[in-house]
Amino acid sequence: MSNNEHLFARAQRHIPGGVNSPVRAFGSVGGTPRFFVRGEGPYVWDADGKRYIDYVGSWGPLILGHAHPAVVEAVERAARNGLSFGAPTEAEIDLADLLCELLPSLEQVRLVSSGTEATMSAIRLARGFTGRDKLVKFEGCYHGHADSLLVKAGSGLLTFGNPSSAGVPAGVANDTLVLPYNDVAALEELFSAKGSEIAAIIVEPIAGNMNLVRANPQFVQAMRRLTEQHGALLIYDEVMTGFRVGLQCAQGLHGITPDLTTLGKVIGGGMPLAAFGGRADVMSKLTPLGPVYQAGTLSGNPLSVAAGLATLNEIRKPGFFEELTAKTCMLTEGFNAVGRELNIPFCAQSVGGMFGIYFAEQVPDNYNDVMNSDRARFNAFFHDMLEQGVYLAPSAFEAGFVSAAHSGATIMATISTARLALEHAKR
Ligand SMILES: *Cc1c(COP(=O)(O)O)cnc(C)c1O
Repeated sequence: MSNNEHLFARAQRHIPGGVNSPVRAFGSVGGTPRFFVRGEGPYVWDADGKRYIDYVGSWGPLILGHAHPAVVEAVERAARNGLSFGAPTEAEIDLADLLCELLPSLEQVRLVSSGTEATMSAIRLARGFTGRDKLVKFEGCYHGHADSLLVKAGSGLLTFGNPSSAGVPAGVANDTLVLPYNDVAALEELFSAKGSEIAAIIVEPIAGNMNLVRANPQFVQAMRRLTEQHGALLIYDEVMTGFRVGLQCAQGLHGITPDLTTLGKVIGGGMPLAAFGGRADVMSKLTPLGPVYQAGTLSGNPLSVAAGLATLNEIRKPGFFEELTAKTCMLTEGFNAVGRELNIPFCAQSVGGMFGIYFAEQVPDNYNDVMNSDRARFNAFFHDMLEQGVYLAPSAFEAGFVSAAHSGATIMATISTARLALEHAKR
């Protein structure tokens, strides 16, 4: 038995499924999850001492790579002064100021500890502000695991959503309406029927939880226009895309000013930190100023804030995103070239430091397209890459991430590895 296998067996005794978040269990690709011991730059090492080039980056936060010296030092310095106070600190003002400076749509922002908390709080705030209950989300988008957001499409466009998890009350799911991504006609139909009941649209402006799917410009503009016309709020869930696709986030790329934005992942630099913010007239409805309750014992935790500030200070340096974007493009262009060369349905695309790879003829436009990709081939490819020391997300439905620590040579090595794996996958 390898150390990884031994640890996985041991983990399952006292941890359900052996993991603290389900996709880590390798359920969709099969096999034994790797238990990691150490990370440095673009690399991670598992419990058997094997090294991997990491394209998961803790699911997005590690935009500077593992154990970046500036981030580690900031956390160590903060830790020596106390781990938590449950009282205001100056550093959290610095972080709020910086977030509002970098993202013009944020007039005010509140810090929380996870993306789930950020989206859950943002939708409560949207409901409290508008006095309406209905929420619109899109098929294939993930917004954390709050009850209102674990909802899938019902049988017809205008019917109620159904819970996508046991334990979500039907009454809660009834208030969530689920539409296909990138479908302007469906959006228009829904708003003309129920516009006055809708509190908000929540959307991944570039979806990264059904692999990577871009929102097209007409869709983005329709969301902004219809919410404005009907007095609903537009919530950009940028927990993944925020400071990952560019310094102005997806909203900067789209030229859209959402009413509320949720952030997480990169802004915590690998520590538990997330945020939601936006229009001051909306944010002022939060307690202690207004009637919408929201709180957190560890919100604005000094270690998380230190890691977040250190990370943002690195990524705002001139040229950071140009370089990250170029490297990520080099990876996806390399994948595309190999797919063409071997003449197999395999393609890739990227936005900033985020990418998608698909066993399909062309990049997907929505959840159905993603579901129609060749998952068996992905699984074979995944295991081949893993064997050869490249760690990709263990699911065909996740985006991948490149960090500033991935060098051109690391990326070229990954493309060569992919050529071998794709030759195998072809057979
Ligand atoms: C990861 C993610 C979340 C949830 O964040 P957690 O920190 O895992 O709770 C919410 N929305 C999006 C778009 C995400 O990618």
